[in-house]
Amino acid sequence: MGKLEGKTALVTGASRGIGRATAQRLAEEGALVAVHYASNDEAAAETVALIEKDGGRAFAVRAELGVPGDVHELFLGLEQGLRERTGTTTLDIVVNNAAAQTAAGLAPEDVTPEDFDRLMAVNAKAPFFIVQRASSQLADNGRIINISSGVTRVANPEQLAYSMSKGAIEQLSLHMARHLAPRGITVNSVAPGITDNGSPVFDVPEIVEAMSQLSAFKQVAKAQDVANVVAFLATEDARWITGAFIDASGGTLLG
Ligand code: NDP
Repeated sequence: MGKLEGKTALVTGASRGIGRATAQRLAEEGALVAVHYASNDEAAAETVALIEKDGGRAFAVRAELGVPGDVHELFLGLEQGLRERTGTTTLDIVVNNAAAQTAAGLAPEDVTPEDFDRLMAVNAKAPFFIVQRASSQLADNGRIINISSGVTRVANPEQLAYSMSKGAIEQLSLHMARHLAPRGITVNSVAPGITDNGSPVFDVPEIVEAMSQLSAFKQVAKAQDVANVVAFLATEDARWITGAFIDASGGTLLG
């Protein structure tokens, strides 16, 4: 029997990359997973199909984050999907994974107010209101896992605005960990380093080789490497970890 049998989970941004691998991993442990995504219906359907092929249970929920009404739309789809399959809207696990990125090589001088607002809206504001909305329907001993990034621990001017948005999600973990502890709910941040999310850049050997040098293991991570860490935090085994920053960067932050 899987470690998450009978649990329900929401994974935002689960149509591809780390989110997809996380959805698959949680489903493998027995959770019913809501596969959230922004616009790529086909990719989300593929995540659901991959989970079902392995005997798991999942359904897709579409909602663009970072726009007015985003969290409300997400929860309408989520609650409907849960109610149809379980008869309730109880949620056990929330993984805030979806995020907006910036173009590589964007100097601080070139960040526009629109870029900044978008990063904050998708990466910080949406997770905050997802957690706020979810907390009333989260079961006791539930789990919230916020995906941050190793860039909050190393100076990288080209990622300044993105890093600020990830710093915000770490604060969400810290403060909500204390707030929700009386109910046994844990809240943690997981910080990946460079992780193959299936985007075309990971097909270019020279670029992969250069990126690999950043990790102590001289590899880029597979999405499953991060998903395994998230899945552990979702289990009962991790009940004594809360408010933590979990470095899942393959030693990138060792310097
Ligand atoms: P991907 O870019 O591969 O996937 C992003 C996912 O988020 C997709 O499911 C996408 O949906 C969804 N998404 C993007 N924008 C929005 C939005 N505005 N509203 C709703 N959904 C949205 O992500 P990764 O797997 O690379 O990254 C996952 C997490 O890990 C992110 O939080 C990222 O910041 C973090 N991270 C990733 C690293 C890496 O090297 N990959 C390194 C450090 C941190 P759709 O398919 O519909 O567009």
